[in-house]
Amino acid sequence: MSVVDSALVQIRQLHPYSPGKPVEELERELGIGNAIKLASNENPLGCSPRALGVLAEASEHLELYPDANAYYLKQQLAQKLGVEQDQITIGNGSNDVLDLVARSFLDASTEAVFSQYAFMVYGMVTQACGAKASIAPALGPGSASPYGHDLDAMAALINDKTRLVFIANPNNPTGTWLQADELRRFVERVPEHIAIVVDEAYFEYVELQQYPDTLQWLGQFPNLIVTRTFSKIYGLAGLRVGYSVSSSELCDLFNRVRQPFNGNSLGLAAAQAALEDDDFVAQSRASNARGLRSMQQWFAQRGIDYIPSAGNFLTVRFGANSPQIYQQLLQRGVIVRPVANYGLPEHLRISVGTEPQLQRLYLVLGEIL
Ligand SMILES: *Cc1c(COP(=O)(O)O)cnc(C)c1O
Repeated sequence: MSVVDSALVQIRQLHPYSPGKPVEELERELGIGNAIKLASNENPLGCSPRALGVLAEASEHLELYPDANAYYLKQQLAQKLGVEQDQITIGNGSNDVLDLVARSFLDASTEAVFSQYAFMVYGMVTQACGAKASIAPALGPGSASPYGHDLDAMAALINDKTRLVFIANPNNPTGTWLQADELRRFVERVPEHIAIVVDEAYFEYVELQQYPDTLQWLGQFPNLIVTRTFSKIYGLAGLRVGYSVSSSELCDLFNRVRQPFNGNSLGLAAAQAALEDDDFVAQSRASNARGLRSMQQWFAQRGIDYIPSAGNFLTVRFGANSPQIYQQLLQRGVIVRPVANYGLPEHLRISVGTEPQLQRLYLVLGEIL
């Protein structure tokens, strides 16, 4: 027996996460210099100039370990969010926090509940812990939110072994969202010993009246964990900073599980600066809203179905030709994201780009279709 065979079976059976194709890789392959990437829900405006501005100074002492407690970032977040510092757990991206939560609650004797089409990482961290993934079928075509989380179906999967529920609001890759009243009713139904993660990676992009203010619920639900990130609207995906807000008791647990220096010094400094740049966030939100409207219009005018989205991407149903359309887009220097690995082989997920990027997308797609 080889040493690889003696690794845990749940680890050997893990599928590696498949990221969007890097721009440089495609440009190298095609020998071109102007590829665009609309594949990873990154901010097409980049990041706040203020965040860039602090990197030089933050780089002066890379020989030093970062602040293991991320004191200043937590202080700023606490103030901005109206919570206490001891409720905030910093992660190396919010994926790291999802992993911390899973490792705090799951082992081979337990189960985690999440929805079909939910963010891939929930399944990965659940499996890595050896726990069972209980996956609720998503809402169907006739429902108010096709492909969205079916909270009744999720509640029905909760049993004695359930320790954790993952909810993405809005969800990636569907863009579907849950309204405050329905989510609140669900949270009330979940037994209080079961942890509920509400993953709000796209929180700052959402413009819906009925979108929940989950941080307000934390006082009432000690089992609630809200995760957010600097990777999306703040445009700092490359620096890996995310966080959760929860009860201080849960936060204390996560801080015991996490690696002491999981937030790096450049990331922490940039996140602090980005947090202060309300103008950049507002600009990004407005640009995204315009882009999303434009994309929805473009596809609607051509009779092409898409899943209505509250995020910074649109998941479009191209039909059985999706893989070919993906390839043809690549050949023309436009990277989008196949979502067959999510069980959506007829769809492609397209991140909202800048106006020029979208014009390029439309031109190229027009030729292909
Ligand atoms: C992008 C994304 C994340 C955030 O990932 P980071 O690790 O913070 O970069 C988390 N959840 C969902 C649903 C996402 O789409």
